[in-house]
Amino acid sequence: MTDPEALQASTPLASIRARIAHTATIARRKAEDVTLIAISKTRPAEAILPLIAEGQRVFGENRVQEAEAKWPALQEAYPDIRLHLVGQLQSNKAEEAVRRFDCIHSLDRPSLLTALAKAMDKADRRVPLFLQVNIGAEDQKGGCAIGDLPALLREARNADLPVIGLMCVPPAGIEAAPFFALLAKLADDHGLAGRSMGMSEDFETAMMLGATHVRVGSALFGARG
Ligand SMILES: *Cc1c(COP(=O)(O)O)cnc(C)c1O
Repeated sequence: MTDPEALQASTPLASIRARIAHTATIARRKAEDVTLIAISKTRPAEAILPLIAEGQRVFGENRVQEAEAKWPALQEAYPDIRLHLVGQLQSNKAEEAVRRFDCIHSLDRPSLLTALAKAMDKADRRVPLFLQVNIGAEDQKGGCAIGDLPALLREARNADLPVIGLMCVPPAGIEAAPFFALLAKLADDHGLAGRSMGMSEDFETAMMLGATHVRVGSALFGARG
């Protein structure tokens, strides 16, 4: 589905932007309705600065500790940067996460919900949340079971947490599209507009199936070492 403009693009970011624009046209969607999150985990600031220079402002990290080391100076220099947490979150890191991040994609259990509600009250800061769903019912994978989603969402709404959508990481090694379609249906069923799905290998497929947030790392920064 890659269009000629993307192949000619001068940088990886320009290429991904062209692919998003092209896919939006095919999907009869607006490219602006899809947020590109540049996943900068494991990348040093020197690798991030060129993307900032090209105008990218939304970044994602998967570990609170790493973000604390890397982002304060960048956030101070570029106050319009928005930082998303896309990795599993331990309840004892909820306070740090609420202060550092502008959006959290990994709410997946009642204990974390309680910790985040407390942290948001304490910081007097409401951070938009995605509920992460273990869409392929895999052992060892983050995300709540599909069967637990209604209760978790009810609890989040009762606690007045700003849940804006659902997030998933489909099983590796098999076609992701059915899982993206399932996440979109669950979001529809629960009246949630946000769908955080799609990575370097499959963000166009995810967009065709309604992704509002795509999380792209290696296609922007190169393979992780
Ligand atoms: C690392 C990561 C990504 C980006 O993966 P790429 O394949 O490098 O694009 C997206 N989402 C999550 C949750 C990740 O941990």
